[in-house]
Amino acid sequence: MTYLGVKFRAVLMDEKFPRDIGLDELKTWCTEFYNHGFTPEYEGGSAGNLSYRIKEGENQFIITGAGIVSKARILDNSLVQVKSCDIEKEIAYYYGTRKPSSESLVHYAIYQARKDVNAVFHGHSERILACAERAGIVQTKQEEPEGTAKLANAVLAVLGNEKFIVMRNHGFISMGKTMKEAGDLAVKMQQRCMTL
Ligand SMILES: [Zn+2]
Repeated sequence: MTYLGVKFRAVLMDEKFPRDIGLDELKTWCTEFYNHGFTPEYEGGSAGNLSYRIKEGENQFIITGAGIVSKARILDNSLVQVKSCDIEKEIAYYYGTRKPSSESLVHYAIYQARKDVNAVFHGHSERILACAERAGIVQTKQEEPEGTAKLANAVLAVLGNEKFIVMRNHGFISMGKTMKEAGDLAVKMQQRCMTL
């Protein structure tokens, strides 16, 4: 995984956006993900990004911002609202005081393709990557760089009706009708991988 050559562009619509009722639940799940080791920290940021669809029937979502040093305790201003993305051009249009995660393209692609999914939680887990094959988890065909249309398309190529997939050599994506569903599924998969 590398940031080199990422063309991903974030276009600011407005620094302000209405405070959605789901923000607090998303923050709780960020802490939960941190506690499970799904958001390892690196210099200048931390891996993993969590989002939820604001309103059924629309593709706007709230997502953790780029460059969050730790996801242990997330503040409101670490969350941004993505209005839409142009996947092929690798652009995200957003509201907030921080840029959206570069993996917003993947989140957007999933919300567009899957009307049944209202939460997309992406985390990193060596344990889940190592057991993906044995656990029968669907994986993207090849590794693609973050923030690219190639990665979003690689996810779409294997997405089908899956609720849990692995981006090869990278991390997992857990999906659900609710944040609780997406979060619980990630925890369950990690537990399953401990016994495999
Ligand atoms: Zn990642």
